[in-house]
Amino acid sequence: MIQHDVELKKFDLHTNDVIKRDFYKDRIVEACPTCGSTWHIKYGFYNGIQRYKCKVCDKTFSRATNSLWSYSKKNTRIWMEFTELMTENKTLKFCAEKLNISIGTAFYWRHKILKALSIDSIPDNLSGVVHVGKVIIKENFKGCRDPEIIAASTPRENIWVIGARGQEDTMFIKPIFKYQWDKVAFNEKVYTKIEKNSYIAAYGDSNINAIAMRHNKNKSIKVDKEYRIKYIWPNLKKWLSIFHGVASKYLQRYLSFFIIMNLDKAIDYMDLIYDRLFEGNRFIKTDEIRIRSSLF
Ligand SMILES: [Zn+2]
Repeated sequence: MIQHDVELKKFDLHTNDVIKRDFYKDRIVEACPTCGSTWHIKYGFYNGIQRYKCKVCDKTFSRATNSLWSYSKKNTRIWMEFTELMTENKTLKFCAEKLNISIGTAFYWRHKILKALSIDSIPDNLSGVVHVGKVIIKENFKGCRDPEIIAASTPRENIWVIGARGQEDTMFIKPIFKYQWDKVAFNEKVYTKIEKNSYIAAYGDSNINAIAMRHNKNKSIKVDKEYRIKYIWPNLKKWLSIFHGVASKYLQRYLSFFIIMNLDKAIDYMDLIYDRLFEGNRFIKTDEIRIRSSLF
C-alpha cells in the first residue's frame, strides 16, 4: 500500500532541493573559502549541489558555501516567500505570522537581504544632468540597549542624507555627515562622484545650490525635474515609516533597498533574488552580515 504523505512534507522537501539546485547550478567557485587556493578538485554532490575539495588545505566546500542560504536550515521556499513579502514592504510581524517563523528569524533574514543589497546598489559615477538633494534625518537608537550611549547622544543629532541621480538608472543615497553642513565631507563623498562635464541641478538646499552654481559656471539651463530627488524627503520618510523607524547604524542598508525599489526597471522578487542576491560568484560571508556600526 502506498503510504500517503498527508502533509506533503516530502513534496515540499523535494521542491526545496530542486529550487536550491537551480540557484546554484551556475555559481562558479574560484577559490577555497578557507585558504584562498584555486587548486581544487570536484568532490561529488550533496543534495544535487557540486562539492569541491581543496588540494592545499584538504577542506571541502560547495557552490553553496558562504552563500545566503548555506547556513539557513529553513526551507528555501519560505526564504523566497520572505523576500517577496519584503519587496511588498510587509512588516516583520506580518512576515513572521504568515510564514510561521519567529520575529527574530524574520529580523535576521531581513538584515541578510539588506546587507546583500547594499553591496553594489550605489553608482560609482554620476553623469549627464545630475540632480542633487538632501534629507535630514534624526539619529535613531532603536534597539540600542546601552543607556550610556543613548544618554551621551541626547539631543539626537541631525544626519544629512544626500540623494543624487544622473542619467544612469540608479541612485546615490547616503548618509554623508552629521550636525551642520560640511562642505569638505560633501566634496569628498559626493562631489567627486559627479563627472566634470555634467550639469548639476540642485534641490532645496542653499549650500548644494552654491556648489551647483560654481560647477555649472553660473550657467543655468532648463532641465526636467527629477521627482525622485525633488520628493526624496516625503518618499524616504514614508518608506522608513514602514519599518517603524530605522536604527541609524542600519540606515545605509535600508537606503540601498530604497534605491532598488526606485529604479525605472520594474523588479519583482525573483529578479531581486537572482540578480542581487545570488549573482555569479559573489560570496557573502555570514560574519560580514553581522552588525557593523560604522556609518560614517
Ligand atoms: Zn583550501
